[in-house]
Amino acid sequence: MTVYVVGLDGADWSLLRPWIEEEYLPTFDRILNDGVAGDLKSTLPPVTFPAWKCYSTGKTPGKLGVYEWFAYDKDTHEISANDASDFRSREYWDVLAERGHRAGVINMPTTHPPDDGTQNTDDGRTFIIAGSPASERKRFTVPDSLKEELLEAIPDYRVKPDLVLDESTPDELVDEATTLFEQRFRAATWLADEKDCDLVHTTLFATDTLQHRLWDRPQKLRAAYEHIDDLLADLLERDDAEAVVLLSDHGFQRIDEIFLVNQWLLDRGDLVIEESETRDVLSSVGLTEERLKRFVARLGLVNLAQSMIPESVQRFFPSESGRVAIQDAKIDWSRTKAISLGRGPIYINRDAFASDNAADRYATDLTDDLENQKTPTGDPVVTAVYDPTDVYTGDRPHGPDLLVEYAPGVDAPESIGGEVFGETTEWLATHRRTGVFAAWGDNIADEAADLELYDLAPTLLHYFGVPVPEDVDGDVRFDVLTGDPAARSVDQGPPTATGTDRREVGPEVEETLRELGYME
Ligand SMILES: [Zn+2]
Repeated sequence: MTVYVVGLDGADWSLLRPWIEEEYLPTFDRILNDGVAGDLKSTLPPVTFPAWKCYSTGKTPGKLGVYEWFAYDKDTHEISANDASDFRSREYWDVLAERGHRAGVINMPTTHPPDDGTQNTDDGRTFIIAGSPASERKRFTVPDSLKEELLEAIPDYRVKPDLVLDESTPDELVDEATTLFEQRFRAATWLADEKDCDLVHTTLFATDTLQHRLWDRPQKLRAAYEHIDDLLADLLERDDAEAVVLLSDHGFQRIDEIFLVNQWLLDRGDLVIEESETRDVLSSVGLTEERLKRFVARLGLVNLAQSMIPESVQRFFPSESGRVAIQDAKIDWSRTKAISLGRGPIYINRDAFASDNAADRYATDLTDDLENQKTPTGDPVVTAVYDPTDVYTGDRPHGPDLLVEYAPGVDAPESIGGEVFGETTEWLATHRRTGVFAAWGDNIADEAADLELYDLAPTLLHYFGVPVPEDVDGDVRFDVLTGDPAARSVDQGPPTATGTDRREVGPEVEETLRELGYME
């Protein structure tokens, strides 16, 4: 028998519930009626990276040492993209494998590179098919040999969409997403059948991409979810389906106002950049990133362009909007007091202050100023600015100094160039902290229950009758269980914390973040 966990990146009840009530999603309706469902509180910031790892480890970013897509090294001031090897914990499927279970993981963001050092790659019981920015042209599975078997079974399996996102029509985006959804589900049942997995986790990531870009076209989004509903219907009908669990890594909401937080810091003189001449030269001859992308899209040469034009060159094409990713800006660290990376974490550069006391005073003032900041329509920009020690567990390696929770409807990209308020991007909607949870099957309750993202790993381990690592932050949620799992007491197992062996990050990580719109 198999437990199927289906991750719907960015799924939000504000979309799904009305469609369920209008009978567009009969399988979701069945899961909700026969099983348990509720809100799933994500981490802060509610961002894909590291949220999926918070789910799979049951731990806050403070223990994982990863807070968003990018890491900031306080000593060297280096800003670099995180990857799977930066997370300081093993995952719940590693614990299952140790106890003799067999687990498959498909397309979960944060799983590239697949051989991240935390799995015992030759245990023969863990099967990883990495998510973006992995590439089917390179190694993307654990074990290595799984790639050939997978591509033999599903020859058209792709890790990433074969589209230039910015240049695609809504229908092209939805069509490509549904093709990828089908491939993911085929991979899931293939792992269950061929590798005898009793747990298969699959993330559908394209839901996030579609929602960012098509929030104003709900019928298009609905079409994508109707397709997922069909695939779920087949899954529920399988003889081996012991349970099906649905979750999102965060929710979603419309963007009402964009707050360019680093531009705000720049205008205050708290962030200082050295001008770069490269962009001006390219701009003066009329070469922009958008023109390059249009040219590439017209010729249908996405993969070719990605392999032929190094990311280090691509990044110097200026955006038509004039905005620049903060990661590309040449920052004057002798004069920069603070920088925001990700949608929430703020790092304070202590080197720019005469004393620690001065840096602490600055942090207090910055907190006050952010909490008092208003949008042009007079609404608050932030809900709260937290001391990370109040939000994260663990010793918070590489952690931020302040953690901003933005107000509903406010998106705070990292780019600079342009106005602090009023800018627009290709994103119409952004993440929020409240996501979705639902579960159906044997020994699953049929009530409503609101969970935290950290609760999934301990609850699933307990469901399997496996000891729960003593260092998880979540709880075994007995309110979602019935039968034997509900009756037995929790066994505590050894911690899953690991060290980290930080490796060189390939350019594909940043390239993918650009494609998705996480970087300008
Ligand atoms: Zn996400």
